[in-house]
Amino acid sequence: MKGVVFLGNRRCEVRDVPVPRPGHGEVLIRVEAAGICGSDLHVYRRTDATEQVRGHEACGEVVELGPGVLRVKVGDRVSVHHHQGCGACYQCARGETVACTVRHQIIGVDVSGAFGEYVAAQERNCIPLAATSSFVDGAFLACVGSTSFAVLRRLGVSAHESVAVFGLGPVGLSCVLVARALGLRVVGIDVVPGRVALAQVCGAQLGVDGSQDDAVSRVRKFGAIPGTDRGEGVDYVVETSGSTAGRGAVLPCLRREGKGAFVGVASSEPVINPSDIHGRAATLLGSIVFPLAWMWDLARLCGVSGLSFEPAVTHRFRLDDAVEALRVADGAVGGKVVFEPSAP
Ligand SMILES: [Zn+2]
Ligand SMILES: [Zn+2]
Repeated sequence: MKGVVFLGNRRCEVRDVPVPRPGHGEVLIRVEAAGICGSDLHVYRRTDATEQVRGHEACGEVVELGPGVLRVKVGDRVSVHHHQGCGACYQCARGETVACTVRHQIIGVDVSGAFGEYVAAQERNCIPLAATSSFVDGAFLACVGSTSFAVLRRLGVSAHESVAVFGLGPVGLSCVLVARALGLRVVGIDVVPGRVALAQVCGAQLGVDGSQDDAVSRVRKFGAIPGTDRGEGVDYVVETSGSTAGRGAVLPCLRREGKGAFVGVASSEPVINPSDIHGRAATLLGSIVFPLAWMWDLARLCGVSGLSFEPAVTHRFRLDDAVEALRVADGAVGGKVVFEPSAP
Protein backbone atom coordinates (compact mmCIF):
# COMPACT_ATOMS: atom_id res chain seq x y z
CA MET A 1 0.00 0.00 0.00
CA LYS A 2 0.99 3.65 -0.20
CA GLY A 3 2.16 5.30 3.02
CA VAL A 4 3.68 8.70 3.89
CA VAL A 5 6.96 8.83 5.82
CA PHE A 6 8.82 11.90 7.06
CA LEU A 7 12.44 12.31 5.96
CA GLY A 8 13.47 15.18 8.28
CA ASN A 9 13.72 18.96 7.70
CA ARG A 10 10.20 19.31 6.24
CA ARG A 11 10.63 16.60 3.65
CA CYS A 12 8.36 13.61 3.16
CA GLU A 13 7.65 10.96 0.55
CA VAL A 14 5.06 8.39 -0.43
CA ARG A 15 6.43 4.87 -0.21
CA ASP A 16 5.19 1.42 -1.01
CA VAL A 17 4.91 -0.28 2.40
CA PRO A 18 3.34 -3.53 3.66
CA VAL A 19 -0.35 -3.48 4.64
CA PRO A 20 -0.44 -3.80 8.47
CA ARG A 21 -1.77 -7.10 9.81
CA PRO A 22 -4.50 -6.95 12.50
CA GLY A 23 -3.30 -8.80 15.61
CA HIS A 24 -5.42 -10.29 18.40
CA GLY A 25 -8.28 -7.94 19.27
CA GLU A 26 -7.43 -5.67 16.33
CA VAL A 27 -9.17 -4.74 13.11
CA LEU A 28 -7.91 -3.56 9.72
CA ILE A 29 -9.42 -0.32 8.44
CA ARG A 30 -9.35 1.12 4.93
CA VAL A 31 -8.54 4.78 5.62
CA GLU A 32 -11.10 7.13 4.03
CA ALA A 33 -9.99 10.33 5.81
CA ALA A 34 -6.92 11.31 7.83
CA GLY A 35 -6.25 14.74 9.31
CA ILE A 36 -2.85 16.43 9.46
CA CYS A 37 -2.38 17.52 13.08
CA GLY A 38 -0.13 20.08 14.72
CA SER A 39 1.73 17.27 16.44
CA ASP A 40 2.49 15.71 13.02
CA LEU A 41 4.00 19.05 11.99
CA HIS A 42 6.28 19.12 15.05
CA VAL A 43 7.75 15.83 13.81
CA TYR A 44 7.79 16.98 10.16
CA ARG A 45 9.96 19.98 11.18
CA ARG A 46 12.45 17.87 13.11
CA THR A 47 15.83 17.07 11.57
CA ASP A 48 15.62 13.28 11.92
CA ALA A 49 13.81 10.87 9.59
CA THR A 50 11.05 8.59 10.90
CA GLU A 51 10.57 5.26 9.17
CA GLN A 52 7.01 4.73 10.43
CA VAL A 53 4.00 5.71 8.29
CA ARG A 54 2.84 8.87 10.11
CA GLY A 55 -0.61 10.21 10.95
CA HIS A 56 -2.88 9.54 13.93
CA GLU A 57 -6.28 10.97 12.92
CA ALA A 58 -7.77 7.98 11.12
CA CYS A 59 -11.29 7.22 10.02
CA GLY A 60 -12.51 4.63 7.57
CA GLU A 61 -14.26 1.34 6.96
CA VAL A 62 -13.39 -1.95 8.66
CA VAL A 63 -12.28 -4.51 6.06
CA GLU A 64 -10.85 -7.35 8.16
CA LEU A 65 -11.05 -8.65 11.73
CA GLY A 66 -8.15 -10.11 13.70
CA PRO A 67 -8.77 -13.03 16.07
CA GLY A 68 -10.77 -12.33 19.26
CA VAL A 69 -12.70 -9.29 17.99
CA LEU A 70 -16.12 -9.13 19.70
CA ARG A 71 -18.02 -5.98 18.72
CA VAL A 72 -16.72 -4.41 15.52
CA LYS A 73 -17.83 -5.92 12.19
CA VAL A 74 -16.55 -5.79 8.63
CA GLY A 75 -18.19 -2.79 6.92
CA ASP A 76 -18.44 -0.68 10.11
CA ARG A 77 -17.55 3.01 9.68
CA VAL A 78 -15.24 3.85 12.56
CA SER A 79 -13.11 6.64 13.93
CA VAL A 80 -9.93 5.54 15.70
CA HIS A 81 -8.73 6.90 19.07
CA HIS A 82 -5.01 7.29 18.43
CA HIS A 83 -3.75 6.34 21.90
CA GLN A 84 -3.84 2.56 22.25
CA GLY A 85 -3.44 1.31 25.80
CA CYS A 86 -2.97 -2.09 27.39
CA GLY A 87 -6.63 -2.28 28.44
CA ALA A 88 -5.60 -3.70 31.81
CA CYS A 89 -4.22 -0.83 33.93
CA TYR A 90 -6.01 1.78 36.07
CA GLN A 91 -5.73 4.54 33.43
CA CYS A 92 -7.06 2.26 30.67
CA ALA A 93 -9.95 1.28 32.97
CA ARG A 94 -10.84 4.99 33.06
CA GLY A 95 -10.55 5.16 29.27
CA GLU A 96 -7.48 7.39 29.66
CA THR A 97 -5.38 5.32 27.27
CA VAL A 98 -3.25 8.46 26.77
CA ALA A 99 -1.82 7.81 30.24
CA CYS A 100 -1.51 4.00 30.03
CA THR A 101 1.36 2.87 32.25
CA VAL A 102 1.88 -0.60 30.78
CA ARG A 103 1.82 -0.64 26.97
CA HIS A 104 1.10 2.77 25.50
CA GLN A 105 1.17 2.78 21.69
CA ILE A 106 0.31 5.76 19.52
CA ILE A 107 -0.95 5.15 15.99
CA GLY A 108 1.47 6.78 13.53
CA VAL A 109 4.24 6.85 16.12
CA ASP A 110 4.67 3.34 17.54
CA VAL A 111 2.66 1.49 14.88
CA SER A 112 1.82 2.22 11.22
CA GLY A 113 -0.33 5.34 10.98
CA ALA A 114 -3.24 7.06 9.26
CA PHE A 115 -1.28 8.47 6.29
CA GLY A 116 -1.55 5.09 4.56
CA GLU A 117 -4.25 3.27 2.66
CA TYR A 118 -4.87 0.94 5.62
CA VAL A 119 -4.37 1.14 9.37
CA ALA A 120 -4.66 -1.57 12.04
CA ALA A 121 -6.14 -0.62 15.42
CA GLN A 122 -7.37 -2.21 18.62
CA GLU A 123 -11.11 -2.89 18.56
CA ARG A 124 -11.73 -0.85 21.72
CA ASN A 125 -10.22 2.21 20.02
CA CYS A 126 -12.75 2.01 17.15
CA ILE A 127 -15.75 4.27 17.78
CA PRO A 128 -18.81 3.94 15.52
CA LEU A 129 -19.75 6.98 13.41
CA ALA A 130 -23.29 8.36 13.30
CA ALA A 131 -24.94 7.65 9.95
CA THR A 132 -25.01 11.40 9.24
CA SER A 133 -21.29 11.91 9.98
CA SER A 134 -18.76 11.93 7.14
CA PHE A 135 -15.42 10.15 7.21
CA VAL A 136 -13.84 13.61 7.55
CA ASP A 137 -15.97 14.19 10.66
CA GLY A 138 -14.59 10.91 11.93
CA ALA A 139 -11.01 12.07 11.35
CA PHE A 140 -11.78 15.04 13.63
CA LEU A 141 -13.28 12.71 16.24
CA ALA A 142 -9.98 10.80 16.27
CA CYS A 143 -8.06 13.76 17.72
CA VAL A 144 -8.78 17.50 17.40
CA GLY A 145 -12.58 17.31 17.56
CA SER A 146 -12.63 15.15 20.67
CA THR A 147 -9.80 17.18 22.23
CA SER A 148 -12.02 20.27 21.85
CA PHE A 149 -15.06 18.45 23.23
CA ALA A 150 -13.00 17.31 26.22
CA VAL A 151 -11.87 20.86 27.04
CA LEU A 152 -15.45 22.12 27.13
CA ARG A 153 -16.56 19.14 29.21
CA ARG A 154 -13.72 19.65 31.69
CA LEU A 155 -14.71 23.31 31.96
CA GLY A 156 -18.31 22.27 32.70
CA VAL A 157 -19.96 24.60 30.14
CA SER A 158 -23.71 25.22 29.82
CA ALA A 159 -25.82 26.59 26.96
CA HIS A 160 -25.90 30.40 26.55
CA GLU A 161 -22.67 30.93 28.45
CA SER A 162 -19.80 32.71 26.69
CA VAL A 163 -16.44 31.30 25.64
CA ALA A 164 -13.42 32.97 24.06
CA VAL A 165 -11.24 30.72 21.90
CA PHE A 166 -7.67 31.94 21.46
CA GLY A 167 -5.93 30.43 18.43
CA LEU A 168 -8.08 29.47 15.43
CA GLY A 169 -6.11 26.63 13.91
CA PRO A 170 -7.81 23.24 13.57
CA VAL A 171 -8.16 22.76 17.35
CA GLY A 172 -9.55 26.27 17.89
CA LEU A 173 -11.96 25.96 14.95
CA SER A 174 -13.12 22.59 16.27
CA CYS A 175 -13.67 24.23 19.63
CA VAL A 176 -15.82 26.91 17.98
CA LEU A 177 -17.92 24.25 16.23
CA VAL A 178 -18.43 22.11 19.34
CA ALA A 179 -19.18 25.13 21.54
CA ARG A 180 -21.84 26.31 19.08
CA ALA A 181 -23.37 22.81 18.98
CA LEU A 182 -23.56 22.96 22.80
CA GLY A 183 -25.36 26.31 22.59
CA LEU A 184 -22.60 28.63 23.78
CA ARG A 185 -21.83 32.13 22.55
CA VAL A 186 -18.37 32.16 20.99
CA VAL A 187 -15.72 34.77 20.25
CA GLY A 188 -12.64 33.61 18.32
CA ILE A 189 -9.27 35.38 18.39
CA ASP A 190 -6.25 34.89 16.09
CA VAL A 191 -3.56 37.01 14.47
CA VAL A 192 -4.21 35.50 11.00
CA PRO A 193 -7.21 37.32 9.43
CA GLY A 194 -8.17 34.33 7.26
CA ARG A 195 -8.50 32.17 10.34
CA VAL A 196 -10.63 34.79 12.11
CA ALA A 197 -12.97 34.76 9.09
CA LEU A 198 -13.04 30.96 9.13
CA ALA A 199 -14.10 30.98 12.80
CA GLN A 200 -17.12 33.04 11.82
CA VAL A 201 -17.93 30.56 9.04
CA CYS A 202 -17.79 27.91 11.81
CA GLY A 203 -20.37 29.86 13.81
CA ALA A 204 -18.45 32.24 16.08
CA GLN A 205 -20.64 35.30 16.77
CA LEU A 206 -17.56 37.50 16.92
CA GLY A 207 -14.08 37.25 15.41
CA VAL A 208 -11.21 39.38 16.68
CA ASP A 209 -7.95 39.99 14.82
CA GLY A 210 -5.52 40.02 17.72
CA SER A 211 -2.86 41.75 15.63
CA GLN A 212 -5.13 44.80 15.06
CA ASP A 213 -7.60 45.04 17.91
CA ASP A 214 -7.34 45.18 21.66
CA ALA A 215 -8.40 41.57 22.04
CA VAL A 216 -8.87 41.63 25.81
CA SER A 217 -11.27 44.58 25.87
CA ARG A 218 -13.31 43.22 22.96
CA VAL A 219 -13.55 39.81 24.62
CA ARG A 220 -14.55 41.37 27.95
CA LYS A 221 -17.31 43.34 26.20
CA PHE A 222 -18.52 40.17 24.48
CA GLY A 223 -19.26 38.77 27.94
CA ALA A 224 -21.54 41.70 28.86
CA ILE A 225 -25.33 41.51 29.05
CA PRO A 226 -26.40 42.17 25.43
CA GLY A 227 -27.37 45.80 24.95
CA THR A 228 -25.17 46.98 27.79
CA ASP A 229 -21.51 47.87 27.51
CA ARG A 230 -20.30 46.78 30.92
CA GLY A 231 -17.66 44.27 29.91
CA GLU A 232 -17.52 41.86 32.81
CA GLY A 233 -15.49 39.26 30.93
CA VAL A 234 -16.42 35.87 29.53
CA ASP A 235 -17.40 32.72 31.42
CA TYR A 236 -14.65 30.62 29.81
CA VAL A 237 -11.45 31.01 27.85
CA VAL A 238 -9.91 28.17 25.84
CA GLU A 239 -6.29 28.85 24.88
CA THR A 240 -5.18 26.77 21.87
CA SER A 241 -2.39 28.94 20.42
CA GLY A 242 0.23 28.12 23.03
CA SER A 243 1.66 31.60 22.47
CA THR A 244 2.84 33.88 25.25
CA ALA A 245 0.31 36.52 24.19
CA GLY A 246 -2.60 34.07 24.09
CA ARG A 247 -1.73 32.52 27.43
CA GLY A 248 -1.27 35.93 29.01
CA ALA A 249 -4.76 37.00 27.86
CA VAL A 250 -6.60 34.13 29.57
CA LEU A 251 -7.01 35.62 33.05
CA PRO A 252 -7.69 39.25 31.95
CA CYS A 253 -10.54 38.03 29.70
CA LEU A 254 -12.33 36.03 32.41
CA ARG A 255 -15.23 37.27 34.46
CA ARG A 256 -15.03 36.81 38.22
CA GLU A 257 -15.11 33.06 39.00
CA GLY A 258 -14.60 32.31 35.30
CA LYS A 259 -12.65 29.28 34.13
CA GLY A 260 -9.75 29.07 31.70
CA ALA A 261 -8.23 26.03 29.98
CA PHE A 262 -4.79 25.61 28.44
CA VAL A 263 -4.67 23.32 25.40
CA GLY A 264 -2.01 24.73 23.04
CA VAL A 265 1.68 24.01 23.48
CA ALA A 266 4.46 26.27 22.18
CA SER A 267 5.81 28.94 24.54
CA SER A 268 7.42 28.00 27.85
CA GLU A 269 7.50 31.57 29.21
CA PRO A 270 5.79 31.98 32.58
CA VAL A 271 2.84 34.37 32.15
CA ILE A 272 0.61 33.77 35.16
CA ASN A 273 0.75 35.48 38.50
CA PRO A 274 -1.08 33.39 41.14
CA SER A 275 -2.31 36.65 42.72
CA ASP A 276 -4.41 37.27 39.57
CA ILE A 277 -6.05 33.85 39.94
CA HIS A 278 -6.78 34.65 43.58
CA GLY A 279 -8.12 38.11 42.86
CA ARG A 280 -10.65 36.82 40.30
CA ALA A 281 -11.47 33.63 42.21
CA ALA A 282 -10.69 32.03 38.85
CA THR A 283 -10.18 28.39 37.96
CA LEU A 284 -7.44 27.39 35.52
CA LEU A 285 -6.98 23.90 34.18
CA GLY A 286 -5.05 21.96 31.56
CA SER A 287 -6.63 19.60 29.07
CA ILE A 288 -4.93 17.01 26.87
CA VAL A 289 -6.58 14.42 24.64
CA PHE A 290 -9.74 12.67 25.96
CA PRO A 291 -10.96 9.42 27.48
CA LEU A 292 -12.34 6.77 25.10
CA ALA A 293 -15.94 7.10 26.33
CA TRP A 294 -16.00 10.84 25.59
CA MET A 295 -15.30 10.03 21.95
CA TRP A 296 -18.45 7.86 21.95
CA ASP A 297 -20.29 10.82 23.50
CA LEU A 298 -19.06 13.17 20.78
CA ALA A 299 -20.04 10.67 18.05
CA ARG A 300 -23.54 10.72 19.59
CA LEU A 301 -23.58 14.52 19.81
CA CYS A 302 -22.74 14.72 16.09
CA GLY A 303 -25.61 12.35 15.31
CA VAL A 304 -28.24 14.11 17.43
CA SER A 305 -27.24 17.76 16.89
CA GLY A 306 -26.05 17.72 13.29
CA LEU A 307 -22.59 18.89 14.43
CA SER A 308 -20.10 18.47 11.57
CA PHE A 309 -16.46 19.51 11.43
CA GLU A 310 -16.48 19.91 7.63
CA PRO A 311 -16.64 23.76 7.83
CA ALA A 312 -13.15 23.75 9.40
CA VAL A 313 -11.61 21.94 6.40
CA THR A 314 -9.91 24.12 3.78
CA HIS A 315 -7.72 21.60 1.91
CA ARG A 316 -8.18 17.98 0.83
CA PHE A 317 -5.45 15.85 -0.75
CA ARG A 318 -4.74 12.36 -2.01
CA LEU A 319 -1.77 10.52 -0.53
CA ASP A 320 0.16 11.01 -3.79
CA ASP A 321 0.10 14.76 -3.08
CA ALA A 322 1.57 14.42 0.41
CA VAL A 323 4.46 16.85 -0.25
CA GLU A 324 2.01 19.63 -1.10
CA ALA A 325 -0.41 18.66 1.69
CA LEU A 326 2.30 18.90 4.37
CA ARG A 327 3.59 22.15 2.89
CA VAL A 328 0.12 23.71 3.11
CA ALA A 329 -0.46 22.46 6.68
CA ASP A 330 2.98 23.72 7.72
CA GLY A 331 2.07 27.21 6.45
CA ALA A 332 -0.53 27.41 9.27
CA VAL A 333 -2.73 30.07 7.67
CA GLY A 334 -5.75 27.99 6.62
CA GLY A 335 -8.04 25.53 8.36
CA LYS A 336 -7.75 21.76 8.59
CA VAL A 337 -5.83 19.82 5.93
CA VAL A 338 -7.03 16.26 5.34
CA PHE A 339 -6.01 13.28 3.25
CA GLU A 340 -8.71 11.30 1.51
CA PRO A 341 -6.64 8.26 0.47
CA SER A 342 -9.49 6.35 -1.14
CA ALA A 343 -11.05 9.29 -2.99
CA PRO A 344 -11.44 8.57 -6.74
ZN1 LIG B 1 -3.93 15.04 16.32
ZN1 LIG C 1 -3.05 0.56 30.22
